[in-house]
Amino acid sequence: MRKLIVSLLVIVLPVLLIKSSLAHYTLTESGKFKGANLHPYYYESTIPSTWKSYIDASFGEWNSKSSKVFLYASSSTVDSRISMGGGFSEIAVTVVYGGLKGEPHEFFRITFNEDRKFSTIGSNDYNLRTVARHEIGHALGLDHVGGIFPSSDTKAHIMYENYTGEKGLHAHDIEGLREIYGN
Ligand SMILES: [Zn+2]
Ligand SMILES: [Zn+2]
Repeated sequence: MRKLIVSLLVIVLPVLLIKSSLAHYTLTESGKFKGANLHPYYYESTIPSTWKSYIDASFGEWNSKSSKVFLYASSSTVDSRISMGGGFSEIAVTVVYGGLKGEPHEFFRITFNEDRKFSTIGSNDYNLRTVARHEIGHALGLDHVGGIFPSSDTKAHIMYENYTGEKGLHAHDIEGLREIYGN
């Protein structure tokens, strides 16, 4: 009986170790944003002008974590866009385009759900900066973390699959960004 318990532990432990290390970040299939460090994005007219500085600030937080990638607001129309729209149930949706399967993507579209309520300050409704942080993570090439039994660490990631209130970038979200682009 004792022998059996020992051998079971030997099998279970490595599996747990692999799972916990995978839970810290996951990369999207396209993996990264293509090309040089600088990438412009454009606000469509559906985005309230009062939102822009908050969303820009969320971009700025990601920008500050790697010197190898920098996303900035452009006053002229470019492929990467941020807009408000409907017809989906998620809080916001990010889609990346342009890369063939397994290759870097060329631009992104972030759409905030027009049927949800966002607030720029505090934790009423959906916190705009928090949602923006999460969606920008997708635009940069990060996928969700989660799982059936997510740890408190996993839930604290900005890339956690569910909205859990206002939060910032987690050390492991930044680790994921640097895995893709470098420091
Ligand atoms: Zn973690
Ligand atoms: Zn997401």
